[in-house]
Amino acid sequence: MATRLRSPRVINPSKQQSVVPISDAAPDAHTLYEVLRDGLIWGRWKPGEKLKPQHLKDELGCKSAALREALIRLAGEGFVDSELNQGFRAVAHSKETFQEAVHMRWVLECEAVRMALKNGGFEWEMAVSAAHKKLVFVEERMKAADDVTPFLKHWSRQDWEFHNTVLSACRSTLLLRSYKTAYDTFRMYAVSSLPTYGFGGDNNITEHNAIYEAAIQHDEAACIEAILCHLPLSDDATLSAGAG
Ligand SMILES: [Zn+2]
Repeated sequence: MATRLRSPRVINPSKQQSVVPISDAAPDAHTLYEVLRDGLIWGRWKPGEKLKPQHLKDELGCKSAALREALIRLAGEGFVDSELNQGFRAVAHSKETFQEAVHMRWVLECEAVRMALKNGGFEWEMAVSAAHKKLVFVEERMKAADDVTPFLKHWSRQDWEFHNTVLSACRSTLLLRSYKTAYDTFRMYAVSSLPTYGFGGDNNITEHNAIYEAAIQHDEAACIEAILCHLPLSDDATLSAGAG
């Protein structure tokens, strides 16, 4: 069972989106890895930001050894830069890396959805429906808000939950593992570097709805078309339509 984190001390009042979890036990390295990766993806730590051990220990209530282990793992996976005697920084992805991530999502998502639509049964349909409903709920709130930043954490998580649930019936652990790396790289860049954090309002809602409807109908051609529409490869299309 995952250890829950202590309530963090407030370090920077402008950062209202705490990574939270509350408990008295110091988190283990795996829990820290998950919390840090999640925070890097939704923008809790910005690209290039120095990840100061003392600040992280204060915020997350963790021990040095577990924190170092988690950061080294994130460095190995390309989400954190490690500099000799300089500590760790959140990685700053280039536009080229982002385009690679879009392409990888395109390839992996289309292949996984082909298998998922063949295998997915009623339980899967219920899960897809629930994930879609939660995502629409967040996106409707974002559309109505003057400031979408308080929603970024929830949006990133629900967008992941929706896409991952659609693909989950593909029955390939390796494919889904590769997909998560591509997805997280995509999301980390989008939230930090695209206008409005990559949120495209009605475009996002319409695109997710098209994927959902096609998936529930087990319509492979329509679902792939909707996914390709959701993941535009050109910069112009990405910037104008959003990147969710
Ligand atoms: Zn999406």
